[in-house]
Amino acid sequence: MSADPHCIFCKIVAGQIPSKKVHEDDELLAFHDIHPWAPVHILIIPKQHIVSMADVTDDHAGVLGRMMALSPRLMRDLGVTNGFRHVINTGRDGHQEVMHLHLHVMGGPRPWLKG
Ligand code: 5GP
Ligand code: ZN
Repeated sequence: MSADPHCIFCKIVAGQIPSKKVHEDDELLAFHDIHPWAPVHILIIPKQHIVSMADVTDDHAGVLGRMMALSPRLMRDLGVTNGFRHVINTGRDGHQEVMHLHLHVMGGPRPWLKG
């Protein structure tokens, strides 16, 4: 499986940088974001080094589908019951900071909302 030795998320996949994992299988890894924007904020990544959505082709449809399909189960397991949000940033102008494709999944209570 392709990896970039300088990539922080490839290092997380390889266990060279610690992470709070919530799921691992042959193809995917999911872990808590180190600087959460929501009470529950996880990142789902392909283990293979795909730089961004800009590099995705039809060949990646399976792995992308599995990233999306994994998210509701993980949110349920983490106690998120009232909805969640997906974000994928792509490229510098798309606010991407880590150049290894990742799906942000965020949920949890927003107590400042009324009703
Ligand atoms: P981006 O802006 O590229 O879409 O988001 C990158 C995300 O990765 C950020 O939310 C950031 O907090 C998270 N992140 C960066 N480095 C690490 C790390 O070493 N460990 C974890 N768990 N998250 C990281
Ligand atoms: Zn990588």
